[in-house]
Amino acid sequence: MDSSPNGHPAAVPSEVKAATVPSEAKEENEHIVLATKALRSHIGLAENPTEKSSATPSSATPLFWVEVAPESTRGAKCRLDGCPTNVMPGQYRIAVNPGYHSFGGRQSPDYYHVHCFEEIADFSQADFLDRVVPLTRRTWRLRNLQSSSVLDGNYLLDAGAERLTLEWKLSVGKLIDKRDGVETKDEMSAALTDLFYKAGSSKYVPQELPDNLSMFERGLLSSTLAPIESDGPEDMEEWNLFDEYLVVLATSNNLTDKGKEQKEAELTPKAIRAIQRLNVIPMPDIQSAFLRGL
Ligand SMILES: [Zn+2]
Repeated sequence: MDSSPNGHPAAVPSEVKAATVPSEAKEENEHIVLATKALRSHIGLAENPTEKSSATPSSATPLFWVEVAPESTRGAKCRLDGCPTNVMPGQYRIAVNPGYHSFGGRQSPDYYHVHCFEEIADFSQADFLDRVVPLTRRTWRLRNLQSSSVLDGNYLLDAGAERLTLEWKLSVGKLIDKRDGVETKDEMSAALTDLFYKAGSSKYVPQELPDNLSMFERGLLSSTLAPIESDGPEDMEEWNLFDEYLVVLATSNNLTDKGKEQKEAELTPKAIRAIQRLNVIPMPDIQSAFLRGL
């Protein structure tokens, strides 16, 4: 991974973000205003948040993919006007797919640095938040990429980024519901909640899980994707991914680089172990996909 600045989507302080009023916060720059309007109309909203939409929703619903930029010589152009740098290989990026720039009649995705996209997308609104999809073994087929490239490990998020992106989306969603007075029930069973938030802890006791969660996913959630790192039953200060990184405003690279740059002095062997584990990309379950296809 290189060391150029790259905001992490999950590292946005959700409370701050959800409380920000877009029209006040973003009018400092003409580029940003125009890009914000263009993005709003691209997803079928009125250009101005106070107006009703008269836009015809595009036939395909644009999604905001959080992914890792694949190998390329010069990277990809960031679509935010005025952004001086390309999105380079290995950086997290947002792919708006389909994008609104078309080449030769074909709509291709629009790529952004994560921090650039945060300038124009208003994640305090469900219309934006709901479109955020982390590119993982579970979702990649919706993104129309070459299978061989994905199976070589391109585009897919590492385990830490996957957990953080999903947790960030969930947390902001809850804040939006709370702000709007929408009552939501936590639909996750206690067993599943434990698996999602306590796996990796010495105190975690696996329970019976719903059948719709495959053994493959169970295995990943309790190992590679586990948010806790523990030194064992005596450990009173287990390492927790969400405590460490979820509400941190960061402009650094992936988890490993962030750990190196910002926390080197205070990193314990346990934290290093956790960061290395979460830096692994959980690959698609090719074996069972293959078996299903037989
Ligand atoms: Zn940019």
